[in-house]
Amino acid sequence: KATQRLDKLLAHTGWGTRSEIKKLVKRGAVLVNGTVVKDSGLQIDPQKDKIRVDGEPVEYKEFIYIMMNKPQGVISATEDVRERTVLDLLGPEVGHFRVFPAGRLDKDTEGLLLLTNDGKLAHNLLSPRKHVPKTYYAEVEGKVTEEDVEAFKRGVRLDDGYVTLPGELVILDVKDGERPLSKIELTIREGKFHQVKRMFQAVDKLVVYLQRISMGTLRLDHHLPLGGYRELTEDELKGLK
Ligand code: URA
Repeated sequence: KATQRLDKLLAHTGWGTRSEIKKLVKRGAVLVNGTVVKDSGLQIDPQKDKIRVDGEPVEYKEFIYIMMNKPQGVISATEDVRERTVLDLLGPEVGHFRVFPAGRLDKDTEGLLLLTNDGKLAHNLLSPRKHVPKTYYAEVEGKVTEEDVEAFKRGVRLDDGYVTLPGELVILDVKDGERPLSKIELTIREGKFHQVKRMFQAVDKLVVYLQRISMGTLRLDHHLPLGGYRELTEDELKGLK
């Protein structure tokens, strides 16, 4: 259908409940094509009509997809009584979309996090049956060896007895000396709780820095500062669907 009610459209784009929207309209906050409207049931053509609420242009898109470079110190949940969440990092332009993080990163993990209000896409990405690959960069205490690469390829037994699916471990750099440190990339196709840390624990090593760099076809944009975010490009979104 070409047109829809103003209040419905505003509710859909996250401006509140019908009754909240009625109040907005009543106090003259809503302009359609530059004119204050008084009727929240006004028929709107989303293709043509320009709506503003308190001066802010209304975007008609239903879904939003945000790539964030998650910093340490915030949790990837939508709310928490004590901790700051990734949602606290989003500006008001995102505020009226009800986004949630598609997948979790630990409080001390950095890197690629997708935030969206598209439940279907999130479900598909996260569904254990889909085995979407996720790649992490990590710094690990000690010397990561070819034996570890082989062990990860076979699957390792975690502390709860679960044996992981094959993971691809790539050793980037091993620093020798008194306190050896290894830089690695690990790709896994599942997402158990603390999985990367626990896989290294299974081979007696400690992850001291962890960053997610990709999820499926989506790669972290290294131009994003920690805590920064942007919408996905059309190509990035296509790759995820
Ligand atoms: N594995 C972990 O151990 N932590 C994360 O945040 C993600 C994967």
